[in-house]
Amino acid sequence: MAELEGLEFGKSDFVLLDEVTMEQFMENLKLRFEKGRIYTFIGEVVVSVNPYREMDIYGKETIDAYRGRELYENPPHLYAVSDAAYKAMKRRAKDTCIVISGESGAGKTEASKYIMQYIAAITNPTQRAEVESVKNVLLKSNCVLEAFGNAKTNRNDNSSRFGKYMDINFNFNGDPTGGHINNYLLEKSRVVHQQDGERNFHSFYQTTNNDRTSHKAVMSALNVIGFSEEEINSIYQILATILLLGNMQFECDGESVQIVGLEAVNHISELTATDPESVSKSLLYRTVATGGGEVIEKGHSEQDACFGRDAFAKALYERLFGWIVSRINTVIEVKDYNPMLHGKNTVIGVLDIYGFEIFDNNSFEQFCINYCNEKLQQLFIELILRQEQGEYQREGITWQHIDYFNNQIIVDLVEQPHKGIISILDEACLTVGNVTDTVCLDSMDTKLAQHPHYTSRKTDRKYGGEGDVTFMEGFLDKNKDMLFQDFKRLMYNSANPVLKEMWPDGHLSITEVTKRPLTAATLFKNSIVALVDKLACKEPYYVRCIKPNEMKSPVLFDDARCQHQVAYLGLMENVMVRRAGFAYRQPYSRFLQRYKMTCEYTWPQHLMASDREAVETIVTQHGFQDDVAYGHTKLFVRTPRSLFTLEQERAALI
Ligand code: ADP
Ligand code: MG
Repeated sequence: MAELEGLEFGKSDFVLLDEVTMEQFMENLKLRFEKGRIYTFIGEVVVSVNPYREMDIYGKETIDAYRGRELYENPPHLYAVSDAAYKAMKRRAKDTCIVISGESGAGKTEASKYIMQYIAAITNPTQRAEVESVKNVLLKSNCVLEAFGNAKTNRNDNSSRFGKYMDINFNFNGDPTGGHINNYLLEKSRVVHQQDGERNFHSFYQTTNNDRTSHKAVMSALNVIGFSEEEINSIYQILATILLLGNMQFECDGESVQIVGLEAVNHISELTATDPESVSKSLLYRTVATGGGEVIEKGHSEQDACFGRDAFAKALYERLFGWIVSRINTVIEVKDYNPMLHGKNTVIGVLDIYGFEIFDNNSFEQFCINYCNEKLQQLFIELILRQEQGEYQREGITWQHIDYFNNQIIVDLVEQPHKGIISILDEACLTVGNVTDTVCLDSMDTKLAQHPHYTSRKTDRKYGGEGDVTFMEGFLDKNKDMLFQDFKRLMYNSANPVLKEMWPDGHLSITEVTKRPLTAATLFKNSIVALVDKLACKEPYYVRCIKPNEMKSPVLFDDARCQHQVAYLGLMENVMVRRAGFAYRQPYSRFLQRYKMTCEYTWPQHLMASDREAVETIVTQHGFQDDVAYGHTKLFVRTPRSLFTLEQERAALI
């Protein structure tokens, strides 16, 4: 709350700005970044700017300084929110969550790791072995998930290409007893194609020479988590299979399509414990059911064969990743927890999910990712306001509503049944015949023409201004996400039980396969709706990450880029909401403790009937009684200036 550092470092809370203008906000953000103060509060929200250099602010002394302290007792830090979330969980048995957002490269994943390290460091003081082992697995899981889910992109050398939500469970002692990981939309198209300057997932390089050290770390992590040797071998056999598929080519001799070079087929059959004939057959034919219920084998065109091969490679990787996550989950799952015996099992959730992405070429993934961010933004608006309102209500204080952009209209544009973009896409995917991306876009342009937030490059020639995102090419294929049943059956019939386990749907015959599977967009939407429901019933804490520049430079603060992020993260609104209500609130006893020395009637002891009366005396004596409200247990202060005065007076006395 009060300035804990000199003003040369700027304001440690944006709520303390003299005026809430974008100019002042940016000035403060920049000053703090330049002074190496990468964290700033907005009330309980932490704004973080990626320093792009090692900071000496995560060590043991720092952890000790934040442990068990109140948010405003220390300078802003990830540890302050982590501790707040932890305290709420432990003291009030509340489920809490920490939502980390920001664009690619803004520092979300690093933040999530520091948060987890902090929680690990402050728990289990008695070093109980079973708790230590849970903590160890939770921490090691990051290493494995990063190896398989992260890749070098043009924005970030270690970019997470999946969303991650991790629940950590605690017992009544506040020690971790287990956890659960949910992963969201792995960008599997990266398996078969990467943009210029980007790489495939790290895992593919870790078996070759350049990434040896990280390979060792991953192997050790897999061992700690408890993957068996057979399982680890299977993982690498699958990676090798995908690499072989990547090199596989087809040729057409005029009549039928063939695989070029059969060694690859033999090799794949060895790696996947399947027979070579079935491998080549699944690559060259597909089984189809005719209208009359007859089952026939239809040879692929060269194009179909390539499509099938790529879809197979992507699916292998996606299922591998999903299996790794569920395998970790079985290890960290809370077992034998009896609430009667052990007290309430509470949870802290940590969400590290891809932020808004705007590329030159935006595809289906960006559409999903940005939709997800709109949903999270909606939740942010709801929760922050709800939280504020809840507090005023509990404390018996009236307050004024303030206006902000409610993005529900955007969320509806995407997800509304029948009318929304996802529905239109799904409809196009389910239509028999050749609905192309262009046809689908035409239909969207017609159906959504009246929507105030819908534009498309096709209908708006001057379109393409900053901040807008355009999508469409390859949309329908990615939404359909088709994989020939033949591949599923091939894998299901593998003699390797690990592989077989990843393909349970392979037992279905072509006539049993559902004709209308859920599309990728709908599956994603469902998973995000479930995520939002999960978050909504927890007490939220927010970390808003900002990327200072595009060059990964520790000294460059790109004003325009930063301002853009501040705008779409809604940080100005956040400050305004915080200030429109009461910027500060403190329990009477705490306020008294800090400021009693500034008033003769309260120093060193007050003789009044209650702490509240004593606080009223201090406030009145300093003449800011019009700037406060008295709640049942807390004093609420509207403008920071009042507290400044007090703080200065206090400083002069000590
Ligand atoms: P995001 O998950 O938001 O895409 P990351 O967390 O992967 O971004 O951060 C990108 C890179 O920025 C990291 O690999 C690291 O080099 C640097 N970085 C991020 N946060 C920090 C930090 N707190 N201290 C030092 N470097 C950081
Ligand atoms: Mg990340």
